[in-house]
Amino acid sequence: MSFPVNNVRADFPVLLREVNGLPLAYLDSAASAQKPNQVIDTEAEFFRHGYAAVHRGIHTLSAEATQRMENVRVQVAAFLNARLPEELVFVRGTTEGINLVANSWGNSQVQAGDNIIISEMEHHANIVPWQMLCERVGAQLRVIPLNQDGTLQLDVLPTLLDERTRLLAITQVSNVLGTENPVAEMIALAHQHGAKVLVDGAQAVMHHPIDVQALDCDFYVFSGHKLYGPTGIGALYVKEDILQNMPPWEGGGSMIATVSLTEGTTFAKAPWRFEAGTPNTGGIIGLGAAIEYVTGLGLKAIGEYEQTLMRYALNALADVPDLTLYGPDHRLGVIAFNLGKHHAYDVGSFLDNYGIAVRTGHHCAMPLMAFYKVPAMCRASLAMYNTQEEVDRLVAGLKRIHQLLG
Ligand code: PMP
Repeated sequence: MSFPVNNVRADFPVLLREVNGLPLAYLDSAASAQKPNQVIDTEAEFFRHGYAAVHRGIHTLSAEATQRMENVRVQVAAFLNARLPEELVFVRGTTEGINLVANSWGNSQVQAGDNIIISEMEHHANIVPWQMLCERVGAQLRVIPLNQDGTLQLDVLPTLLDERTRLLAITQVSNVLGTENPVAEMIALAHQHGAKVLVDGAQAVMHHPIDVQALDCDFYVFSGHKLYGPTGIGALYVKEDILQNMPPWEGGGSMIATVSLTEGTTFAKAPWRFEAGTPNTGGIIGLGAAIEYVTGLGLKAIGEYEQTLMRYALNALADVPDLTLYGPDHRLGVIAFNLGKHHAYDVGSFLDNYGIAVRTGHHCAMPLMAFYKVPAMCRASLAMYNTQEEVDRLVAGLKRIHQLLG
């Protein structure tokens, strides 16, 4: 059965917009995806008829809202195939999830002389928290280098791992190159050396099913807004035995068992120990709706459709003169490029004039830009609601810019 892309598009009201007098071609979903009516309506319905503060209330609305929030935890656990809902912490997004791990697990487990391994293709969110941790505790940051084709130099990983390696923090899919790293193999190798592994799933969860038990990762994190859900919500998975032994990082309401001015504070069990303050309940409920939406379509079907579109796009882009593509042939979700010597901002502005939304800049991956010796790239994202016609418009737009600018 072919993927019902037109039905999917009809669920996303923003896709009906015009930009600069032309139909919007939204090719920026890797930065943030658009939201279907199902997410918008579920969140609006919650605020209209179901809203109350969670956890503390005995009254009906509070109890209902708490139940709905906890139901989403069960849903996220199923989505990632976690063993238990209690292995999931609600966070603001991938960035906060990684900072939580760096501050809670990292501060308590990483010591002077230890090392942490990342890669040259990481998003700043999976670099800076580890740099800060290493600086705090006197640990060393090691980096798996890139190959020119946008894959990792995997044969270097065994030479970086040693008995002082505490963590491998690696992206499953590059937000610039679309490279899918062989994380299962990398996790197995890191475990052989006693290191834990964090997988940044920000660019992976929307493209195919995820199974954290099969991967055997220790930490997995993603953002709701790239999964067609709301902003300001994401989830961090941590294996139960690790999570239960992690100290709290933010203090406040909801994360305590008892507070005494004379005896001090005792903390709630995980995951609630890591959810200080009033949570983003609307976001959590919207995330639940987003997961329901994509699982309803089937992540496998979504991935297959996107792969067909990706092959079509790579083929069509081969016709554009002076176009440099970055990344491997097999890639997920994104196509980064530069046109001749033109700055990505100029190319992006022209495309915007044609109603085509692409991302331009360093994509929060300045080390990756340095590797390719460019200040910026354009990046077109292909999501489940994009079409061959939109790809054709991108290709025609780039050819036109090439004609105009030379
Ligand atoms: N990691 C990767 C691979 C990403 O693409 C992003 C978002 N661009 C992040 C981390 C950070 O996600 P967020 O801004 O939602 O916290």
